[in-house]
Amino acid sequence: MSFSELGLAEELVRAVTEAGYTQPTPIQSQAIPAILAGGDLLAGAQTGTGKTAGFTLPILQRLMAVRRPTSPAPRALVLTPTRELAAQVEESVRIYGKYAGLRSIAIFGGVGINPQIATLRRGVDILVATPGRLLDHHQQHTVDLSQVQILVLDEADRMLDMGFIKDIKRILSLLPRQRQNLLFSATFSDDIKALADSLLDRPAMIQVARRNSTVEIIAQKVHPVDRERKRELLTELIRANNWYQVLVFTRTKHGANRLAEQLGKDGISALAIHGNKSQGARTRALAEFKANQLQVLVATDIAARGIDIDQLPHVVNFDLPNVAEDYVHRIGRTGRAGATGEAISLVCVDEFGLLRDIERVIGRVLEQEVVPGFEPDLNIKPEPIQRSRASGPGRSPGHAKNGSQRGREQRSAPQGAPKRQSDTRRSGGPARPGAPRPASSGPDGRRGGGRGG
Ligand code: AMP
Repeated sequence: MSFSELGLAEELVRAVTEAGYTQPTPIQSQAIPAILAGGDLLAGAQTGTGKTAGFTLPILQRLMAVRRPTSPAPRALVLTPTRELAAQVEESVRIYGKYAGLRSIAIFGGVGINPQIATLRRGVDILVATPGRLLDHHQQHTVDLSQVQILVLDEADRMLDMGFIKDIKRILSLLPRQRQNLLFSATFSDDIKALADSLLDRPAMIQVARRNSTVEIIAQKVHPVDRERKRELLTELIRANNWYQVLVFTRTKHGANRLAEQLGKDGISALAIHGNKSQGARTRALAEFKANQLQVLVATDIAARGIDIDQLPHVVNFDLPNVAEDYVHRIGRTGRAGATGEAISLVCVDEFGLLRDIERVIGRVLEQEVVPGFEPDLNIKPEPIQRSRASGPGRSPGHAKNGSQRGREQRSAPQGAPKRQSDTRRSGGPARPGAPRPASSGPDGRRGGGRGG
């Protein structure tokens, strides 16, 4: 089925064709007609499935179809969990809306509010926003939400995970009651189901293949290596294979900075992006990386969330994520929209418990390959993993609810770990014969309060 057969206007079909899309993805084939029909939608889809075009295109069409009102107030509102995602969704609106003659803006924190106020005053049709900054505008009476006809909650699970539920409810209370609601979520916890129940009216339901199945096309490999030799191994891999556009994940912001610095000393151009960097610095780093001027981008999970780079060839997990599902999000940066990619994990003795969790989530055992010269020293004992759990804007420590992924993770934390503020120890026996088994610990795997990402 083609884009025009889905009922999209010629202006939109022209724009997607120019973007190089020949055929709608499964989420697009289902979501576009459903949204054009005007009803509510509940969609299970992750980043990488083409979901953004899946809601952006029909929204553009619905807004194009009616005369622009005289009010400058937005008619569609897209809420996203992070600044990066807001910026990227709005960029998609511009790309797909190139010939639609509609106006859009992304508003998020970390950048000056005045240019946003000026644009809002001139008038926008589609507003893409993170919840915190949107509420700032509301408080200052610089945004008028009374004309919103279509609401999108993008990555709703992530928004709840990041503690945005109160903000979302507050925003919902500011919108007209009569409107079209679209909820996109990768996972369906009880919290998401409750939100969907309260928000959606007889929604169309769409579920496209979980990222886990997209994962099939990504070559994944584990290199066991000593904790202290990871950086050396990474440099070796990048040099020996002449890798470009390598996205490297670290667990903490500090780790990201340190690694980028060390790679620089090794003569490999690298920058770190995370929540402590200014928005300008993050945008610049991303632009350089996309333009292939930067060999390595080092990121924390939240900062990388929603990074949209086509056919990113290499993703490296310098540290394994604490939450197994983040692994799936991370490696989803490669192998997008049909391209193949490669995901490498550098795993030290501390991380074999995490590795087992990941293997359980993706439903397969990852191939392990020791790089000659980097054989792990079997006498090294596992140590607790430093945790500065990435969190996003507006996230407060300890908000994770029981029943959420992170809540489950806390409850399943093993017995007897040393309880330092930002440390927690993961269990897990040896993932290979001879790997030392970490001491076990208590159920109170306390979260570090760090605001990462
Ligand atoms: P998303 O899931 O919205 O983050 O999109 C993932 C990636 O797929 C983005 O880089 C899009 O540019 C790309 N994409 C979206 N729709 C299509 C399509 N129909 N054909 C090819 N690529 C697409």
